[in-house]
Amino acid sequence: MRLINFAAGPAMLPTVLLERASQQILEWQDYGFSILEANHRGPEFGELIQQTERDLRQVCQIPKNYKVLFLLAPARAHFAAIPLNLSAAEQTADYLVSGLWSDLAAGEAEKYCQVQRHQLADSYTIDDSTSYFYYTDNETVHGIYTSCPTISSQVPIACDMTSSLLTRPIEIEKYGVIFAGVQKNIAPSGLSLVIIRDDLLHRARAITPSVLDYSLQAEQGSLLNTNNNFSIFMTGLMLQWINEQGGLAAIHQRNIEKASKLYHFIDEHEFYHNPVSAAQRSILNVVFQLAEEDSQAKFLEMAKQAGMIGLKGHRKVGGMRASLYNAISLADVDKLIDFMQDFATQ
Ligand SMILES: *Cc1c(COP(=O)(O)O)cnc(C)c1O
Repeated sequence: MRLINFAAGPAMLPTVLLERASQQILEWQDYGFSILEANHRGPEFGELIQQTERDLRQVCQIPKNYKVLFLLAPARAHFAAIPLNLSAAEQTADYLVSGLWSDLAAGEAEKYCQVQRHQLADSYTIDDSTSYFYYTDNETVHGIYTSCPTISSQVPIACDMTSSLLTRPIEIEKYGVIFAGVQKNIAPSGLSLVIIRDDLLHRARAITPSVLDYSLQAEQGSLLNTNNNFSIFMTGLMLQWINEQGGLAAIHQRNIEKASKLYHFIDEHEFYHNPVSAAQRSILNVVFQLAEEDSQAKFLEMAKQAGMIGLKGHRKVGGMRASLYNAISLADVDKLIDFMQDFATQ
């Protein structure tokens, strides 16, 4: 039996995608070899990566003046790649610190440029000489969502969308560069996506590692190095699945519905508590505490018996966290709520 996996990442994938993928493990289409064995410079893989890019462009409505990269790099590689590609050593970069991931990104950037940190505010005064303004769309650990900030200058906005890309429609035009590790909502780990506006290319510093040089990778069609065939293949299946579900607008509606139901239950129930203000609540990662801290282990154990795993909060913040990514259905959320109700009663 497949358990319902509420983990924050690597995360659950729709069962139908795993079924479709499993058929291609032994033999990919009628090519005579597995997708796992495909040569990254072969014509079959070439066709796959191009098709996946076309599908991503269609699903996310990516304008023509943006490049799409598929990089075999974790999300955290971009914490270094962003300053190396977009700033000079003596330049300032502005960081909105809204939780763990943006804090880590700012810390990494400090190795490469002057970092100006900001707290969450209604708008931000940014000097025109700044190289970029950075923020994290969805803080996966703290369950905090931040909408695209209003800034006083024309400097490009760089955004970490690791846990939120492909969960709602996005106005790509507002951004200079977006990156996302795929292991939260999209595909198995080992791949990240970069969407970057053309005019921001060709600024990388000489010391930038070649594999993280966005311009070089754009020129090479993301094939400077061996790529992650399987994660790109799975990303393609996810894009196809999103279209089958009605596209990102429909996915977003469903995600709002799932999260509203769970937040409503938590707010109504005195045994559970969510500390995030209503406007900032993430629809993807719902964090909550139990009224009795010492019943956490019991909660996780009984959840597993009821068929649900991955509910433990991040080690840095404790408590519980239910990640309601694309693969989690409304019925799965209902099952979680029923369980939480029973547990509180007991
Ligand atoms: C998970 C996560 C990361 C880290 O991803 P890695 O691929 O492990 O480096 C970075 N940012 C956000 C928002 C995340 O959710």
